[in-house]
Amino acid sequence: MRVGLIYDSIYLEHDTGNHVENAQRLVATMSLLEETHLKDNLVLLPPRAATVDEISAVHAKEYISSIQSQAEKGGGWLDADTVMSSGSYQAAIYAAGGALTAVEAVMNRQVDNAFALVRPPGHHATCWQAMGFCLFNNIAIAAKYALANYDIERVLIIDFDVHHGNGTQEAFDDDPQVMYLSTHESPFYPGTGGVEDIGRGAAQGTKVNIPLPAGCGDAEYIKVYEQIIVPAAKRFSPGLILVSAGYDAHWADGLALMQLSVAGYARIVKFIKGLADELCGGRLVFTLEGGYNLKALSAAVKATFDVLLGNTDIEDPIGQSSRGFRAPDIAALIKEIKTIHGLP
Ligand SMILES: [Zn+2]
Repeated sequence: MRVGLIYDSIYLEHDTGNHVENAQRLVATMSLLEETHLKDNLVLLPPRAATVDEISAVHAKEYISSIQSQAEKGGGWLDADTVMSSGSYQAAIYAAGGALTAVEAVMNRQVDNAFALVRPPGHHATCWQAMGFCLFNNIAIAAKYALANYDIERVLIIDFDVHHGNGTQEAFDDDPQVMYLSTHESPFYPGTGGVEDIGRGAAQGTKVNIPLPAGCGDAEYIKVYEQIIVPAAKRFSPGLILVSAGYDAHWADGLALMQLSVAGYARIVKFIKGLADELCGGRLVFTLEGGYNLKALSAAVKATFDVLLGNTDIEDPIGQSSRGFRAPDIAALIKEIKTIHGLP
């Protein structure tokens, strides 16, 4: 397998100071990929910058220029959670561009699949608003770009970040060409992504929200993939799969209360890779979203690469949850979602 890694040190120039979403996330992850020599097996691809036209497929031009001028002023807080610095605009256009580089490399068959290891993350950013540590919605920009530039009819976005990707949902709420499948903790930030959010108009049924109670772990996620995500993806039959890869559902993550392990993340990635192989010639692009425990984030990203490379020996250096939550019963929730979406 030729697996692409899109990375550039420009992503470290988005300086958030003393903030959970900081440059150390990528430094720690790249260090682990180097120490374990996994990086030697990857195809390193430098990201390009996304153009204003490409970003404006998702964001208002006035919003894009407001982020640029805020950077020129030295940065500042955009909302209670989201801060930027003088380097953030450049980092953000290369983060969106990194997702585009990944799409280009996969669609042109330069690589079999690719992971854009970028920051700032993107899935909370809406047309007019930065929020939840996100400036531009990298994955939504990539989906729009793929549909506009390649001969594919449908794109599937799978979002396993612990938070709902409200920006991505909003960008495609009335677009039947994009299916959005999200697992997220609920109730939780940002408060969107209920089971009833299925898309509007002609897009009804293409948005599949799976709001999970706190405490779900590997077994619950596997059930969700087997019973909802795999059959919904097969019915949609995409030409490309994009993944909002957030590692903040790991049990050691300080922001959320899920219990996924690194091994559980590897199982999820196996499901997704199996779908890509079966449905769209293996065409699969990951972009980094959240994940704030450095050890869990880096180990889970490495496990993701191991699965993409076809390695069967997946290390989980952290193991299962020691938090002692009782796993919730999600059978009724799965049944409800299957009923809403007419899944067998
Ligand atoms: Zn998140």
